[in-house]
This record gives sequence, C-alpha cells and structure tokens, in this order.
Amino acid sequence: MKNEAKIRYISPLPELREKEYDPFLEATLQFERAANFLDLDPWIYQRLKHPERELTVHLAITLDNGVAETFTGFRVQHSRVRGPAKGGIRYSPKASLSECKALASWMTWKCAVLDLPFGGAKGAIICDSLKMSENELRKLTKEYTFAIRDFIGPYKDIPAPDMFTNAQTMAWIADAYSQGNGCLEPAVVTGKPVNLWGSLGRAMATGTGLFFVLEEACKHLKIPLSGKKVAILGFGNVGSSIGKLVHQAGCRIIAVTDMFGGIRSDKGIDPFELEKQVVQTGSVVNFPGTEPIDNDGLIALDCDVLIPAAMEGQIHRDNADTVKARIVLEGANGPTTLEADEILKEKKVLVAPDILANAGGVTVSYLEWVQDLQRYFFSEEEVREKTEKKMKKAFWEVVAVMEKHNVTMREAAYILAVGRVAESLTALGRAA
Ligand code: NAD
Repeated sequence: MKNEAKIRYISPLPELREKEYDPFLEATLQFERAANFLDLDPWIYQRLKHPERELTVHLAITLDNGVAETFTGFRVQHSRVRGPAKGGIRYSPKASLSECKALASWMTWKCAVLDLPFGGAKGAIICDSLKMSENELRKLTKEYTFAIRDFIGPYKDIPAPDMFTNAQTMAWIADAYSQGNGCLEPAVVTGKPVNLWGSLGRAMATGTGLFFVLEEACKHLKIPLSGKKVAILGFGNVGSSIGKLVHQAGCRIIAVTDMFGGIRSDKGIDPFELEKQVVQTGSVVNFPGTEPIDNDGLIALDCDVLIPAAMEGQIHRDNADTVKARIVLEGANGPTTLEADEILKEKKVLVAPDILANAGGVTVSYLEWVQDLQRYFFSEEEVREKTEKKMKKAFWEVVAVMEKHNVTMREAAYILAVGRVAESLTALGRAA
C-alpha cells in the first residue's frame, strides 16, 4: 500500500457534476479514491467499478380499486467475490437503477469492512408505498419475488429490509421464494419476524451498531458521550433506534426531522414518546413542546452529534459549511456527498462513514443467516455480544488505517474494504 495516491483512475467529472445528484457517480468516485491510493491493478479496478449484474423487472398487479397497474423494480448485484450478495430492498417513488447500483456497491464495501462473507446487492421497487394498502403491497412483493427468484437464494443473494420495507415484507418474500420447495426456506432473506426465524436483536441492529461506533468515536476523540447534543435527520427504523440508545446514554436530542417536516427543542426530545406519536400519526411533526425545523435548519444546529438517518445526499456542498457538530454519524447510506466530505474534512468534523457506522444491520443479518442455515438460534445477549465485538474491531481497524495514512475515516474504510476485495480476487486467481 502506498502513502500517496497516484491519480490513475478518474471518472469524467466536470459535465456529470453539473447534473442532478447521481448516487452511482458518488459511489464510483469514493471507490476511485481508494483504487488510486491502493494503486489497484487495472483489471481489478474495472471488475469492481461496475456491478456484476443488474436486473430490471416489470410487475403487474390489480389494485384494490380494480385497476391493473405496472410497477418497475430492480435487483443489482455489485459483487459476489467474497460470498453471496447481500443487501436491502427499498420501496420508494424516487428509486432508480443508479441508486440501486450505488447502494449495491456500498454493501460490498460495508461487508468487506466488517469482514463478513458476503458481497453486495440492492433492490428496489418504484412505488409510493405510503399510498398503498397492505393487500397491494403484499401482491407487489410477491410479484417482485417471483420476478427475481432465479437471482436470489441463501447461497446466491440474500435480501433484507431497507426504506419503507420491514419484517412483514421479508416474510412475504420468504414465502414466495419457498413456493415449490415444499417447505419454508428462511435463509433466503434476513430481517424476518422472529417467529419466522428472524434474529433476536435485528429490529434495533442498525441503531445498536451506530451506538457502538459512536461510543468508540468518543473514546477516539477522548470526549465523554453523556450530555452530548444530538440532531437526527430521519426517524424510521434507523433514526428511532439510535435515538433511543443515545437518549438512554444521557445525550439530549435537540431536533428530529422526517419526510413531512421536523421538530426542535433545546430542552430535549424523548424518542420513546416521539415514537408513540409516529405510530399514531405517521410523523414527528407537531410533537408537543417543540418548534418546527427543516432539514437544513437541523443540519446547521449547534449540536455535538449529527445523525443523518434518512437517505442519500442530504449533506451537500450548499449546506456542509453550516455543520457545527463534532461528529457526523452516518446512519443512512450515502448521506454525505464527496464535495461535502471535503468541506467537513476542512472543518475537522469526524465523519463516521456509512460503510462502517450503519453496518450493525448487516452484521445482525449475517448472524440471522448463520442461525437460519444451521437451524440453531442465539439469545439476544449472544447476538449483541457478537455484534459489539465485530463492530468495535472494525472501528479500530479503520482508525489504524486512518492514522497510518493520515486520511479521513471514510477514505480509510474504503482503503480497507477495497483492499480486502482486491486481495480476494487475486487469491482466487481471478485477476486477468
Ligand atoms: P425507514 O423507511 O424506516 O425510515 C426512513 C425515515 O426517513 C422516515 O422517518 C422518513 O420519513 C425519513 N425521510 C425520508 N425522506 C426524508 C427527507 N427527504 N427528509 C427527512 N426525512 C426523510 O428507513 P430506514 O430503514 O430507517 O433507513 C434509513 C436509511 O438508513 C436509508 O439510507 C437506509 O438505506 C439506511 N440503512 C438502513 C438499515 C436498516 O437496517 N434498516 C441498515 C443500514 C442502512
């Protein structure tokens, strides 16, 4: 490994940069930084720059009003070099192939940072799931599973929940996949309900992993965690779970936003009470004792820890300079653009990157898969202990690379991840 990057690999930026935010371009540029740093073999660079496979499917269902409608879905496998592809499925009106390609590649790097025996994948259906009934979502999920059935499997590609999908979605997929098997194959998806062989601890897993990383980040910076002011952008699975954990650790949550708006209170927001409201009303908006705030307002707040936990590209070149937090803990995938990264680096903000920070979800997914394959199940304590060990080991491995090469934490995580996948390709004798 070299100490200075030789710029060998560079995607054509200028004209692309003027376009709307492109997640796959962001992912490619992040990968290229590590590729340059590692002086990657040109064949390995080409092999890892592009996904291995991209599948687009068209799904027809009859809606509850009797109208037949077609939806488009994707499943992208970025890499299966180190094991079956692994990655979530998201339902979103804004889903796109570019987004899936980016998210699939981030899964490859995330699994490599955690040293899990998986590659990376991601899937999506373009739909507004909040406007659909449970019956429509069930039919759509089953159609999607039938369409991608040959692509997925316990030793091929193992989906999991992501934005606007959940344990119920995974149960439907497991059922549709298993039809014809004669019995349920639980290891085809993770994030299932516990009574269908999901893992204990999966629901809070991403938040728990984020919390372990935050604890270690505070140790690294030699600052206490208790008493810190926290702002959370997005209050779904990830945002609410990390919110509860930081609250219990004595931090003060001073703002939360979601897709409908946001709230702030200098006195602090109780995430347990807020969650009750979200269950009832679907949103954090109008939580008693708070004032309204938007995403940019939240990002600019005087806080210690900023947790983007919604979607890609929320911290960008136009708002990164307003960040006052000492730590940005990336709960979402790809929440910080490369240009924002440069600004945060100048401001000496410690960015705990997505491919490390939010890896608690895939780590417990790995444990769920292991349990399902052996049909033998761990206690919640065992799952927590194993996750903690893996997350903290990965954190300090990334810090070691960061300190050795004087790079940002994101660059260090990519150098570690890309290096591991490249080594696997070489050891397999695949490099041409
Ligand atoms: P979710 O669907 O449970 O919640 C998403 C939240 O983001 C909701 O509160 C929604 O209102 C909010 N949101 C959406 N658009 C927004 C916007 N423009 N501004 C503010 N808030 C907005 O999804 P999730 O599972 O919590 O995933 C959130 C992020 O974390 C995604 O980037 C996902 O890829 C990533 N992630 C999820 C997991 C997991 O285990 N669920 C694991 C790793 C990473």
